[in-house]
Amino acid sequence: MSTRDLSWRDGLLELWSDLEVEVDAPLSRRTTFGIGGPADLLVTAHDDDTVRRVLQGVELSAQPVFVLGGGSNLLVGDGGIRGVVLTLAGGLAELHIEDGGQRLVVGCGCTYPRLTRTALDLGWPGAVGWMGTPGQVGGAVIMNAGSRFGEIGDDVATVEAVAATGLVAFDHDACAFGYRTSMFQQRGVGGARVDASISSVDQQVSRLVLTRVILKCDKSSTENARELDATAKDLLARRHRSQPKLRSAGSLFKNPPGDAAGRLIEAAGLKGFTMGHAQVSPVHANFVVNLGGASARDVVAVADHVQATVQAHSGVTLEWEVRRVGDFSTPAAAGALA
Ligand SMILES: Cc1cc2nc3c(=O)[nH]c(=O)nc-3n(C[C@H](O)[C@H](O)[C@H](O)COP(=O)(O)OP(=O)(O)OC[C@H]3O[C@@H](n4cnc5c(N)ncnc54)[C@H](O)[C@@H]3O)c2cc1C
Repeated sequence: MSTRDLSWRDGLLELWSDLEVEVDAPLSRRTTFGIGGPADLLVTAHDDDTVRRVLQGVELSAQPVFVLGGGSNLLVGDGGIRGVVLTLAGGLAELHIEDGGQRLVVGCGCTYPRLTRTALDLGWPGAVGWMGTPGQVGGAVIMNAGSRFGEIGDDVATVEAVAATGLVAFDHDACAFGYRTSMFQQRGVGGARVDASISSVDQQVSRLVLTRVILKCDKSSTENARELDATAKDLLARRHRSQPKLRSAGSLFKNPPGDAAGRLIEAAGLKGFTMGHAQVSPVHANFVVNLGGASARDVVAVADHVQATVQAHSGVTLEWEVRRVGDFSTPAAAGALA
C-alpha cells in the first residue's frame, strides 16, 4: 500500500477543474509495449494555452511533468510516473497543407503515420523513410524518427514549443538533428532526463512541450506520388516480414557506428533469450517483445543481460534507444498489466 503524500493533487484538480484530467491513469494502455504503472495525474491538452496552464500548475505545486506522445519509444516503470503526465489532442493534433503541398503545419499530437501518408500523397521523397514508424509527430521530432531512406528532421523547418513563460520557436539548425537524436533530448524537454539512472525516479519539471512543427519540401511533386507509394509499400512489406508482431517499443538499442545492434545480439546467440515474460525476439534480435504480462523489470533484466553478453562477445557497448521513464523500484501491482 502506497504511503505517498498525494495531497498536491487536490490543488491541481481544482485549478484544472475545466480540463480533461484522469487520476491514477494506467499507462500500460498508452504504450506500445503494453507495460507501465499509473500516472498520478494524466492531463490531455487540446491547445497551447492549456499546455501553458499545465506547466504553470506543476511549477506552482513543485511536481514533475512528463509529456507522453504515442508511447512507442518508451519503457514506463512498473511503479508508474509520479506527478503529471501530459498528452496532446484536438487542436494540437491537426494537420494543415499549405503552399500547394510544399509546406505542412502539424500539431505534435498528430500521429506520425497520418503525417507520413499525407507527405507521400504530396510526393515528398523523404517520407518513404518514415513509413511504418508509429507514434506521434512530437515524439518523432524528439527522436528524429525514420530510417536510412529519410528521417523527419530532414524536412523540419521550424519547431514550436510552449514553456511556462510562453511560446518558443526553433529553426532547423537549432534542432541539431542526428541519428535518433535532436537537441530536444537535452534535460528538461518532455520532462525526463535522458541520462537518468533507471533505479532512481529522475523526472523534473519540464521546461518545454513541443506543440507544432512546420515541415517543408522543395522537391515535392504529386507526379512522384504513385512511384513513392509503391516504394513505401514495398518497404512496409519487408518490415512486416522482418519485425515481430508481438508488442514492443521497436528497436531497443541504437545501432553502433558501422554495425547493427540486431546483428551483434544475434551473433552473441541471444535470439529467443527470455526472462519473465520479456524475450529477445526470435524474428528480430533488436526487438524485445512482451510475451503477455511482461513487467518493466522483465524488460530491463533482458536488456541488462543483452548488453553484458554483447560486450563480452564483441566488445561493443549497446546504448538504449528506448527511453526509460518513471518508477522502476516498485514492482508491478497485481492485475495492473495489460
Ligand atoms: C513496431 C515499432 C517500430 C518502430 N520503428 C521505428 C523506425 O523504423 N524508426 C524509428 O526512428 N523509430 C521506430 N520506432 C520507435 C518509435 O516509434 C519512434 O521513436 C517514435 O517517433 C516515438 O514517438 P512517440 O510519439 O511514440 O514518442 P513517445 O515514445 O511517447 O516519447 C518519446 C520521447 O519523446 C518525448 N515527447 C513526445 N512528445 C513530446 C512533445 N510533444 N513534447 C516534448 N516531448 C515529447 C517523450 O517525453 C519521450 O521522452 C518503432 C517503434 C515500434 C513500436
